[in-house]
Amino acid sequence: MDKKFDVIVIGAGPGGYVAAIKCAKLGMNVAVVEEDSVGGTCLNRGCIPAKAMIHSSQVYREAKDAEELGVFVEGASYDYGKIVDFKQSVIDKLVGGVEQLFVANGVTKITGRGTLLADKKVQVGDEIYEAENVILATGSVPLIIPIPGIDLPKVITSNELYKLREIPKSLVIVGGGVISMEFATVYANLGIEVTVLEALPKLLPALDKEISQNLKIIMKKRGVDIHTGAAVKSIEQGDGVLICNYEEKEQMKQIEADYVLCAVGRKANTEGVLGEGVEAEMERGRFVVDEHLMTSIPGVYAIGDIVKGSAQLAHLASAHGITVAEHLAGEEPSVDISLVPGCVYADPEIACVGMTDDEAKEAGYETKVSKFIMSANGKSIISREERGFIKIVAEEGTNRILGCQMMCARATDMIGEFTTAIANGMTADQLLKGMRSHPTYNEGVGEALEELFGGAIHVAPRKKR
Ligand code: NAD
Repeated sequence: MDKKFDVIVIGAGPGGYVAAIKCAKLGMNVAVVEEDSVGGTCLNRGCIPAKAMIHSSQVYREAKDAEELGVFVEGASYDYGKIVDFKQSVIDKLVGGVEQLFVANGVTKITGRGTLLADKKVQVGDEIYEAENVILATGSVPLIIPIPGIDLPKVITSNELYKLREIPKSLVIVGGGVISMEFATVYANLGIEVTVLEALPKLLPALDKEISQNLKIIMKKRGVDIHTGAAVKSIEQGDGVLICNYEEKEQMKQIEADYVLCAVGRKANTEGVLGEGVEAEMERGRFVVDEHLMTSIPGVYAIGDIVKGSAQLAHLASAHGITVAEHLAGEEPSVDISLVPGCVYADPEIACVGMTDDEAKEAGYETKVSKFIMSANGKSIISREERGFIKIVAEEGTNRILGCQMMCARATDMIGEFTTAIANGMTADQLLKGMRSHPTYNEGVGEALEELFGGAIHVAPRKKR
């Protein structure tokens, strides 16, 4: 095998594999080093399996509740092992797709653990490879909180939960962030007793407060026991159950469960990436990079979850990969990596991009905000998904779109319209130029835009513009 490459990418997750393929498409001779299955956390232990399990669990819940639609599914049930098999079949298909793309684009795959040595050399096992440029894309791993009992056998992270073939009889989730809300959705749909313990005063602490409040109400209605302001202090082994000790309103309380899922964030997977004597500027285990995502070592780039200050999202890692490839090819960046949509695949879905009203005001904007409630949207009524809203933040005067927060069916797809709008400095008037098909969830976007001018058809009397 050739040992010299234009680019060596360490890590084949959504950052690394996209970077490798894009570099190859731009004419570079590329190798990618991966010790595990390609696709990284996203394909193997994150986004994709979560969405496959959410889908299975939703089909089950809908089948049980279909009578109102005139559909009777007698004895609706599920086989958890088969749900896990379905999830795995989706992973296998997508992993196979990435492998094929490597072959089709002439990317060399090197199996093993890559370590960066001096002079842009990369060691994998006993072999040493060389490159003009190296891209580090080693992703992240679940963070483990250092509390007593965290190493008990049935205290697990998302990595182990995906592998379980038995369904937990009951589940306590430590943390009320994104991973927590997605697993709570799956297991609540499947009728499992789920308790969420979140230390901060609200779920999804980083998101718009209206979203957090609504989600708490919806989750509670689904039977999820939610405690905010509840910090987990320790876990003990009881008689066939785990006992979770947490502090809520200055009182110590206990809850029992079959399994405890630790979902308190993820940490950069940078341990051992730099060989002996190789040093780069880092902060809290993440690489400090310049505007081209280059680390303090010339010719060595970092992308995705290991970048200081970066959101730990697959699509951002991929956008980083494209940006570095374009930079190496001497091209201008095609993606605005400063604008990152965030999505939560709860039910209803949640998606946000740009600034909330509070953030926009803090940034010095005079804003106007509109909100359209999806209970007036025909498609949402048909699919019985009328809970939710679309909120738009625009600049007063210019009508430039500054942000959007959605909590409704297909929010994670529809947010793209606003990402495009904000990335291109578009105004609400420009977004209204294109008519929206009927009946669609997307009509809700049109209504929310109209509402910025006081004229949503299905809510308010029309005012003159
Ligand atoms: P998170 O940061 O979203 O949430 C962790 C939560 O745990 C926080 O709200 C924190 O306050 C809470 N917490 C910490 N210690 C606690 C304690 N002792 N007791 C109770 N609560 C405690 O982290 P996550 O949900 O683990 O997700 C990790 C990363 O993966 C995030 O960056 C997330 O964006 C990403 N992710 C994204 C998606 C998606 O885009 N749909 C899906 C899954 C994960």
